[in-house]
Amino acid sequence: MSGSNFLDTVNVFFNRAAEVSKLPAGLLEQIRVTNRVLSLKFPIRKDDGTIEVIEGYRAQHSHHKLPTKGGIRYSKLVDEQEVRALSALMTYKCAIVDVPFGGAKGGVKISTTKYSVSELERITRRYTFELIQNNFIGPGIDVPAPDYGTGEREMGWMQDTYHSMVGGIDADACVTGKPVVLSGIRGRKEATGRGVYFGIEEAMSNQEDMDKLGLKTGVDGKTFIVQGLGNVGYHAALFMIEAGATMVGIAEREGSIYCKDGIDLKAVYEHRVSSGSILGFSDACEEMPKKEGAKLLEYPCDILIPAALEGVITEKNADRIQCKILAEAANGPTNVAAHDILTNKGVLIIPDLYLNAGGVVVSYFEWLKNISHVRYGRIGRRSEQKAYTKILKEIEKLSGRSYSDTELEDLSRGADEAALVDSGLNDTMITAYNEINAIRKELNVDLRVASFLSAIRKVSRIYEIGGIFP
Ligand code: NAD
Repeated sequence: MSGSNFLDTVNVFFNRAAEVSKLPAGLLEQIRVTNRVLSLKFPIRKDDGTIEVIEGYRAQHSHHKLPTKGGIRYSKLVDEQEVRALSALMTYKCAIVDVPFGGAKGGVKISTTKYSVSELERITRRYTFELIQNNFIGPGIDVPAPDYGTGEREMGWMQDTYHSMVGGIDADACVTGKPVVLSGIRGRKEATGRGVYFGIEEAMSNQEDMDKLGLKTGVDGKTFIVQGLGNVGYHAALFMIEAGATMVGIAEREGSIYCKDGIDLKAVYEHRVSSGSILGFSDACEEMPKKEGAKLLEYPCDILIPAALEGVITEKNADRIQCKILAEAANGPTNVAAHDILTNKGVLIIPDLYLNAGGVVVSYFEWLKNISHVRYGRIGRRSEQKAYTKILKEIEKLSGRSYSDTELEDLSRGADEAALVDSGLNDTMITAYNEINAIRKELNVDLRVASFLSAIRKVSRIYEIGGIFP
């Protein structure tokens, strides 16, 4: 899907919810439009000494809350419209999960495999320099994070560039998704995939909804296919498998593999790291080469998890898709025609703007950690542990049973950063799902319209109560 088709898709879905909202047209227009876009061309010196001009963008979709927040994407498909579409999704996503940020997104139009690590570092640092020069980055202005093609390493380079050029006591909060040793937070790397799992689990705990799909409640015992074994896809698959689901297929850019009895995630991941491809994996029952790789999306499974790029489910394949739940881990995987075909077939679509919000939820926790300059759990953990130990000792006295040292240590453990982040993410995904599912049922709309509507209502309240400056 081209960037402009992606933006159109987001706007069509927005308009469906806007119509149901019955809010004034001007207010809806203000919530829909992109507030500010930076379009860049900048030079980098390649390892062979030549100069290449690089194209980059940053869109701040909405300033109703500050800072704005959203990932940085490195992909050869990046263009201004794509970045605008993704930034809009960020605004709606933050609102749905009650994260107090406006939406933003950045992109650099490069294929990461074509550059050395030192060239990628120069691109990242120069891009950050441009953001600084244009007032498009800062702990209270706009806070990037990883997205497709970027990760902890790039966030570390961005943070270092910001530190050296701007500095200040809150400088660490200029990006999230940093390595833990650079003031990142435990649980951020896996957060989006973890949130995807929590969202699917919550959707599948609803008896009435699962009855309609002819499925038993719970993730345990279900089959799933994942597209994209990157950060989001890998972690979503990992947590689904830990909860008892079976991964029957993986689609990657080089092709796909399928096995109805299940595929060992860690083994296939290691095979890809060592060989550069999921193809040739010894336990795959069936392989599809690159050209036919997308066929895997049409294979039987309970849950289909697209976790790569936008526009992979369209009117060209929607009819043949057999899943009962489409769990949109990627942003914008489904176009409008495909959404309608699948919804009419009775597929439950758990939409991107809710389902992949786990990343920004934990980014919010990281930002809070950075501006408060203290690790979660640091102050309370020992005190909790002492209180639990006292209670356990009392139980021992009253019940006559005694706990072993290992049991005591286990039962009395106070919550540390990893546990608190996981708890906050879990609670957020559950609460938000129940909010959107209630809107869906009350208004008899699909979950995507309900999600947009939840976001529109929350953002509109800020404009209505806060007024519009000046
Ligand atoms: P990533 O770069 O870590 O992984 C993407 C994976 O998709 C790679 O393994 C790549 O090889 C694969 N891929 C590319 N083209 C493919 C194709 N045609 N078929 C199958 N696989 C293909 O990116 P990511 O961070 O995991 O992001 C994936 C999606 O999730 C994107 O849509 C992104 O916007 C969205 N997302 C990411 C985050 C985050 O925290 N990283 C948060 C929210 C949403």
